[in-house]
Amino acid sequence: MYTTLKNVTQTAEDLNMTIGAFNAHNLEMMPEMIRAAKEMGSPIIIQTSIATARYIGFKVMVAVAKQLAEDEMVDVALHLDHAQDFDDIKEAIDSGYTSVMYDGSQLPFKENIAKTRAVVQYAHKHGASVEGELGTIGGTEEGIHVEEADRIYTSPEDVVEFVKETGVDALAIAIGTNHGQFKSKTEVNIPLLKEIHQVTDIPLVVHGGTGVKEEDYPDLINNGIRKFNVGTELLVNWTKEAKACFAETPVNKSLRHNVIPANLAVKEIIKHKIGLFMNVDSPIKVAQ
Ligand SMILES: [Zn+2]
Repeated sequence: MYTTLKNVTQTAEDLNMTIGAFNAHNLEMMPEMIRAAKEMGSPIIIQTSIATARYIGFKVMVAVAKQLAEDEMVDVALHLDHAQDFDDIKEAIDSGYTSVMYDGSQLPFKENIAKTRAVVQYAHKHGASVEGELGTIGGTEEGIHVEEADRIYTSPEDVVEFVKETGVDALAIAIGTNHGQFKSKTEVNIPLLKEIHQVTDIPLVVHGGTGVKEEDYPDLINNGIRKFNVGTELLVNWTKEAKACFAETPVNKSLRHNVIPANLAVKEIIKHKIGLFMNVDSPIKVAQ
């Protein structure tokens, strides 16, 4: 079913797992991304940057995600990543994206609240979900670079006020992860995550998931991470596989010889990640 971020994170909450949010960089990889989720029996969040949404077309992305959700019988949420401009958000929601991220993390706290609240009002009126962000995630994404020294961890007190005042459906937090990190792994601040999770029930989101050590996944999931973003690892491996194939395939052979292996490389990574995200060694939490 084509569904919302709110619905899939509720499934994650019920089953004490997390939902992989995987960045689609082109249309070619979309079918195998969704088939990976189908084979693992998990919902999936497909997310795009604004630049990718424009390159493909917002409405084309929606049509493809909807059709694949239906054909493959998978719960698919389509999410716009890191939007800062209300026009982009409106275009995504009006085109049928079921979820958007409004990233006001660089703004003063009150301004972040006010602008996020406005996005939530529009999104909820149209049946879409909203992810907000507090604190600053390191690294570079879509040209915005955050220096190590300028990184601010999310404050648990701010989380309580932000969630209450904005009505967001999920919250991205800064606990030491970095966008685009793939050559090394990061030290995630698990004690801070625990503190945040103790003061809120809001589904929490980790960005820069490629740089997170797989052995840290259970600690993250057991402490409320319900959306887990993975982008760079897919991009790097699609490109590596495509480069190798293009290098050895004659120019007059079908493009399938170059593109299908790259799509399948993405599928294998997603299946591996979802296998860990399902958190099968941890019990389902009993409702209190
Ligand atoms: Zn991000």
